[in-house]
Amino acid sequence: MKYIELGHTGMLVSEIGFGGIPIIRLGTDSAVKVLRRAFEHGINFYDTANAYHDSQNKIGKAFYGMRDKVLIATKTILRDANGAGQQIDDSLRALETDYIDLFQLHQIAQQKDFEAVTAPGGALEAVMQAKQAGKIRHIGVTSHNLEMAVTLVKSGLFSTIQFPFNFIETEALEELHPAARARGMGILVMKPFAGGVIDNGMLAFKFLRQYSGIIPLPGFDSLSAVDDIPAFLSIPIPNTLTDQDSALIEGYRLSLGRNFCRRCEYCQPCPNGVLITMAMGYPIIVSRMDFKVAMNFAQKAMESVALCENCEECLDRCPYDLPIPEIIKHNYELYLEHRSRLAASSDS
Ligand code: SF4
Ligand code: SF4
Repeated sequence: MKYIELGHTGMLVSEIGFGGIPIIRLGTDSAVKVLRRAFEHGINFYDTANAYHDSQNKIGKAFYGMRDKVLIATKTILRDANGAGQQIDDSLRALETDYIDLFQLHQIAQQKDFEAVTAPGGALEAVMQAKQAGKIRHIGVTSHNLEMAVTLVKSGLFSTIQFPFNFIETEALEELHPAARARGMGILVMKPFAGGVIDNGMLAFKFLRQYSGIIPLPGFDSLSAVDDIPAFLSIPIPNTLTDQDSALIEGYRLSLGRNFCRRCEYCQPCPNGVLITMAMGYPIIVSRMDFKVAMNFAQKAMESVALCENCEECLDRCPYDLPIPEIIKHNYELYLEHRSRLAASSDS
């Protein structure tokens, strides 16, 4: 494992980090084993969030007593200073630590989110105060929206940017990564396996390792999955794709292109209040978490699908021409199925 400086933060991070979503579906003991095995493979950077159920607690348990050996990043999705300040303290408690190496404002998708967090009384205020108080070392930001991510990078307010990048979602290459590099920001790669859609980890890494200076954050949910790390590391940087790799990648792109939501949020807001992006991603959410946790996580969004009146406004705004009402209604059926299953299991 090589260690590289994350932007200009001075933090030396492993060339592969650890994404904290998939451990949600593990029991605490199994999650701790997976996290420790990742550490044995040389991973020293662990990314989680207040929104990831008990992921922070599991990371806290795994690295208790060895805090100085790991770097921990977490996030708040709240937009106001009071809520964000509360979540910073919640994170410190859950992670069983007295400082967080990188605290990120989570999923700044639209201009209104950016304005809310940067306004007086906004989340950034609490995060900056926490930094002054020594609770936080560095401040970062995450987004799924390319245009917004570029704005966030250019704002000069953050030390790192976390954005999706994989062989299906390559939009960051053109402007986002160069802009972040030019400003000395750390580049964290969200969803290196496209949120579980890419089931060929080696191919995902063959693509990613064409590029230097980026830190992919794959999530792992088993010891055998973590044990793939040495194979990923054996791919040189910079890597050159073979014709066979390129053909495989093209196959994925063709098969996923029609229905793959990039979570960019250009389709929002829906005039009827449908929370489109999360509703689009429901099958992926379910595949990554225990279905009861997933239902709880996505409940508000899935219940909102019932408000869709097929006005088609969102269709015009989706740059990928996804048949949004069709997909969210299909996902709603799946959600109803899960709801019935849950009701049946709590009756028995
Ligand atoms: S088609 Fe449905 S989801 Fe899309 S904007 Fe109209 S009401 Fe909202
Ligand atoms: S449905 Fe289209 S516009 Fe909406 S988040 Fe997904 S890819 Fe973006």
